[in-house]
Amino acid sequence: MLVYAVHEGGRYVRVEDSLWEQPEGSRGFYVNITNQCNCACTFCLRSMKHMAEESSLWLKNEPSAAEVKAELDKLPWELAKEIVFCGFGEPTMRLPVLLELMAYVRAGHPEVPIRMNTNGLADLQYGRSVAGDFKGLLDTVSISLNASNAQRYLELTRSGFGLQSFEAMLKFAVDCRRYIPKVVLTVVEKVENQAEIDLCRKLCAEKGLELRVRIYEDS
Ligand code: SF4
Repeated sequence: MLVYAVHEGGRYVRVEDSLWEQPEGSRGFYVNITNQCNCACTFCLRSMKHMAEESSLWLKNEPSAAEVKAELDKLPWELAKEIVFCGFGEPTMRLPVLLELMAYVRAGHPEVPIRMNTNGLADLQYGRSVAGDFKGLLDTVSISLNASNAQRYLELTRSGFGLQSFEAMLKFAVDCRRYIPKVVLTVVEKVENQAEIDLCRKLCAEKGLELRVRIYEDS
């Protein structure tokens, strides 16, 4: 599925099924442009290949920007509460396409807020500071903090960039504050214990960043 809704219990639902189940009321629509990721998180469905391929979010072929735009054009925009670029993988792995699609949504539907869920490692992926690319295109960025320190972060994410990933992700988050109105860091409940979550909260407070503790499989 390129574009979908999320229903109760974290169920990924095709847009037409979402409308059938719930004909009225606004909802978020999620845009999935890639399976690729530079991490291999221990808790990610992608890391369980057979499950990943069975998932309705697994893309057999990566869609072109034109293909995703065609899907976006079919959305019931009057019901769109938010557009979320997330993906089964990491959306910034396809940065040019991602930016083109954000600009497309922004131009066509300026009233609809846009969010991106990311692992925050785009600076390492591209070897430069990327936050400014999102200026004017995003209302919210949600960045996976995952852990309170570099070692634990690497154990959980198995990032291809190694131990430097944690600091790079935090720098990306701080940089984003200059260009994106709302910057939220997230940690997954059940993946971490309360003591670790408290440390994450302290770290975010020190950096002036907001922390959200999200439930497993939440979007
Ligand atoms: S960063 Fe996200 S998509 Fe990538 S492996 Fe981790 S949970 Fe999966």
